[in-house]
Amino acid sequence: LPELTGDLDTILEWADEFRTLGVRANADNPEDAELSRNFGAEGIGLCRTEHMFLGDRKQIIQTFILNEDPAVRDKAVNELLEAQTGDFLGMFKAMDGLPVIVRLLDPPLHEFLESPRALDVEIAKLEAMGGDAAAIAEKRRLMEQIDAMSEANPMLGLRGCRLGIVYPILPIMQVRAIATAAAELKKQGLDPRPEIMIPLVSVVPELEKLRGVAEQTIAEVAAEQGVELDIPVGTMIELPRAAVTADEIAAQADFFSFGTNDLTQTTFGFSRDDVEAEFVPQYLEQRLLPYNPFATIDPGVAKLVKMGVELGREGNPELVCGVCGEHGGDPDSVKTFHAIGLDYVSCSPYRVPLARLAAGQAALAEQMDGARDK
Ligand code: PEP
Ligand code: MG
Repeated sequence: LPELTGDLDTILEWADEFRTLGVRANADNPEDAELSRNFGAEGIGLCRTEHMFLGDRKQIIQTFILNEDPAVRDKAVNELLEAQTGDFLGMFKAMDGLPVIVRLLDPPLHEFLESPRALDVEIAKLEAMGGDAAAIAEKRRLMEQIDAMSEANPMLGLRGCRLGIVYPILPIMQVRAIATAAAELKKQGLDPRPEIMIPLVSVVPELEKLRGVAEQTIAEVAAEQGVELDIPVGTMIELPRAAVTADEIAAQADFFSFGTNDLTQTTFGFSRDDVEAEFVPQYLEQRLLPYNPFATIDPGVAKLVKMGVELGREGNPELVCGVCGEHGGDPDSVKTFHAIGLDYVSCSPYRVPLARLAAGQAALAEQMDGARDK
């Protein structure tokens, strides 16, 4: 794994002496976690657990979602539980002694299901080759079932905390895996520090409900394993409604992490997935926007972050506030987050050195401005 050496390391150590903003990384496998640590990350600010559901596990989720038979569903959940426990053992070991914020499943469910269009093509091929009629009928049934679940706007649909409300066994499985991995490592004498993050919250009852599920599951695992588990539960703030009601939400949260990717998308009403193909390049060319707001934090979105932090700390003076959108690794945005008074930024592993430097520069510039004003 690459490490920082020589002059760059010295410069970053100077930056660390000045900066008040913490720097964490977004990582979802032990290799990236270790890499982040080598680059000076002080924890994992975002582990996107959906990245752990690729390959065979997609099929297991599909089985769980599409099957009504409780025995088949239980088997799928147990397979996922075992796999996730292994994932978290690796993550917490790599970050021993440092916080690891694990976000519960976030993306729209259809991302875990086969594509109806691809199934349609397969069916047409099987029919052309005179394939087995029963197999073709089964594929068609599957295609129709998945098609019936499709949404007009999946990014505004069944995703984030809504998944855990519709399928409560999913957060139970994930929290159980997190707590079990933490308990196992504690018994080995290590110091795992997981935190659980609920995505896409817009109203307090969502967080209240899922926090309750998490706390109950953690208590059950602690009793079964005979260890004490203290696992904070927090939320993403990535919808304007959450930012403007942050005081209420903070009463149910140990920490906030601002998801500025979704917050930018929902504040502007711009699709984050089409930003390069659609009108944003034209906006930049015609100077309707000074820069791409998905790369550098927009002042309007930053205002929502500031409001969210201030209201949040009113609702809960102990609240820890960070940011984990792409902006966390952008030097200009880091300056804005320093000025807002966030506790940390979290960014991709390779951006950690840049974020450390930008945070140091922001703190130094503030000190120098203060000295000049005296
Ligand atoms: C965000 O929305 O800023 C965020 C970090 O979450 P994701 O990019 O996974 O939606
Ligand atoms: Mg998001």
